[in-house]
Amino acid sequence: MPPLLESLIEPFVALFGPSHRVHLPYLLCSVGFVTLAWIVARRRVARASLGRWLFPRKLFFHASSRFDVAWCVVRGLVHAVLVWPFRVGALGIAMAIAGFALEHVGRSGLVAPADRTWLFVAFTVALFVADDLTRYGVHRTMHAVPALWEIHKVHHSADLLTPLTLYRVHPIESALNQARGVLTAGLVTGVFVWLYPGKLRAIEIFGVDAIGFLWTMAGASLRHSHAFVAWPAPLERIFVSPAQHQLHHAKFAKVSSNYGSALAIWDLLFGTLRIATRERPPRVGLVRAERNHERTLISALVDPVRASLSRIVGHDLGRRSSPPRTAAPRP
Ligand SMILES: [Zn+2]
Ligand SMILES: [Zn+2]
Repeated sequence: MPPLLESLIEPFVALFGPSHRVHLPYLLCSVGFVTLAWIVARRRVARASLGRWLFPRKLFFHASSRFDVAWCVVRGLVHAVLVWPFRVGALGIAMAIAGFALEHVGRSGLVAPADRTWLFVAFTVALFVADDLTRYGVHRTMHAVPALWEIHKVHHSADLLTPLTLYRVHPIESALNQARGVLTAGLVTGVFVWLYPGKLRAIEIFGVDAIGFLWTMAGASLRHSHAFVAWPAPLERIFVSPAQHQLHHAKFAKVSSNYGSALAIWDLLFGTLRIATRERPPRVGLVRAERNHERTLISALVDPVRASLSRIVGHDLGRRSSPPRTAAPRP
C-alpha cells in the first residue's frame, strides 16, 4: 500500500490491528476495566448510569474530541512525508553496532543455549524495557527543553482525553519518537546479535511484541480517556496507570510528573512519580497562558513551530493567530 494512503487510514485501520492501542479488542478490554471500576467504586466515582458514564455525550460532541478526529487526517498526510523514512533502519543500525563491537571488542565468547527460547524471552524483555526507558527520556526532554515543550504542547492541548488523543502529536514529535524507536531497537538488537550470534527473534502475540500486547490489553487505552482508573498502591509504583497519565495532563499541575509510558519505575527512580491512589480526577489541558496555538489544524501545525523557533532564536517571531503570552516551560 502507498505510504501516504497507509498513513492516512492508520488510526482508523488501527481499530482492527493489534499493533495499535486503539485496536477494537483493546478498547473492549478497557471498557471491561471501567465497568469493573464503576461497580467497585460506584458511589465515589459516578452517579450516572454505567452507559452514561462510559460514553458521556460530551465525549462525542466536545470541540476537543472533534479536533482529535480531524487531526488524525492531517497527521496521516504529514506522517507520510516526515515519519515514513524512519520506518526503515533498525536492522541496519543493529548490523552496524554488532559489526562495530565485533571489530573493536572481538567475539563476545558467549554460547547460546541449544534451546534459544530463554534468549528470545530475554531479547523481548530487553526491547520492551529499553523502549520504555527511552520513551521516558524523550518525553521528559520534551518538557524540559523550552523549544521542544512548544512542540509537545499540541498533545497537552486536549481539553478532554479520548483514545484518539494518543494521535494528537505534532509531526516533529512523531518524527523524534520514530527516530528514538528505531535507534533503541537497533541498539538492543545489535548488542544481542553481538552477544549471541545466530537466530534471534522477539516473542510475539498476533504479530505484535508479546509484552506490548499484554500491556495494551491491561487498559493502556484508558490513559487517554475520562476513566480515572488507578492500580492498587504497590502496582502504581511499577506500572503506569491510566490515572497517572491523566495527572500528567492536569491543567493546573505546577510540577510536571508521570512521564512514563508503561513502567512507572523510571518516574520512581528519577523522582517524578505522582501516584494516583489518593488523587481526584484532574481537569486536563493547557492553562491559557501556556497555549501556543488555536484549535484549528493549520494553527496546530504552524504556530508550535513558530513558538519553538522563537525560543531558539531568543525573540518572538510573531504568530499567525493571537494567543496570550507563553509561560515558562514546566520543569
Ligand atoms: Zn507530556
Ligand atoms: Zn498523553
